[in-house]
Amino acid sequence: MTLQEQARRCAEMILDSRDTAVVSGAGLSTAAGIPDFRGPQGIYRRADVEADKLFDINYFERDPSYYYRFHRECERMLARIEPTFTHKFLARLEAEGRLSGIVTQNFDGLHEAAGSKTIYQIHGTIRRAHCTTCGGYYGYDAVNTMLETADVPICHCGGVIKPDIVFFGESVKYLTECERLCSRAELLFVLGSSLNVVPAAFLPRLCRGKIVVVNRGEVSADYLPPSRITLRVDADLDAFFRAVETELKNVR
Ligand SMILES: [Zn+2]
Repeated sequence: MTLQEQARRCAEMILDSRDTAVVSGAGLSTAAGIPDFRGPQGIYRRADVEADKLFDINYFERDPSYYYRFHRECERMLARIEPTFTHKFLARLEAEGRLSGIVTQNFDGLHEAAGSKTIYQIHGTIRRAHCTTCGGYYGYDAVNTMLETADVPICHCGGVIKPDIVFFGESVKYLTECERLCSRAELLFVLGSSLNVVPAAFLPRLCRGKIVVVNRGEVSADYLPPSRITLRVDADLDAFFRAVETELKNVR
C-alpha cells in the first residue's frame, strides 16, 4: 500500500469510529526535535550522564543537583521547540469531537502546548513540580527562575522541589484512566512508540477495536501481537498525518 492509500484507509477509520484514542511515545517528541534518550544522540549515550542515576528516585533524594543539571539543558532545548503537525492534528481531531483522549509517555508537555485537552501523561510532566516535603505546587517558570541562582530549587519550607516526571522507583500516573481510555476505544493510534516500556506498552492490547501503529522502525511484538494491528505505517508521522488530513477533506 502506498502512503496515500494507507492515509485514505486511516481517514475512513477515523470517520467510522465513535471513540478514538491515542498512545504516543518518544518518536513524536523526536519529530519535534527532542533527542531520543536511548537514540545515538540521546542523553543516555553521553559520557557525562549515567542514565540509571538521572531518573532514579533514590539517587534524586541523595543528590537532586544531578537531575537539575539535565533539567537546565532540557529547559534550553524546550524553549526552542514547537509542537509538530501531528500534535496539532490530534488537537484538532479532539476539538471536532473525533478524539476521546491521549495517553503519552512523553513528559515534554507538547500535546498540551498543541491544544489537546484530555491528556494522560503516564510518565508525568517536566512542566510542573511539587515540594517533596510540604507538597506545595511550583510551575515550570518558577522552578527555572530558582535554577538561575541555585543548583537545586528549594521550597519556602526548606524542602527540595521535584518535577512531576515519574522517576524509576515511582508509580506511573493515571493507569486506571489510561486502561479505561484504551479498552473502550473503537480505534486506537499508537504513535512514535516501539512499545518497549511497560506499563504503557501493554495498553494498546486492551483495545478491542482497530489499532493503527505509526512508527519509524521496529515495534516490539511482546505486548502487541502483529495480528492485532489493523494498519501498520512505517513512515514519518507528520508526512503521514498531512496525507490523512487531505484524505479526510476528500472523504467528507
Ligand atoms: Zn515545601
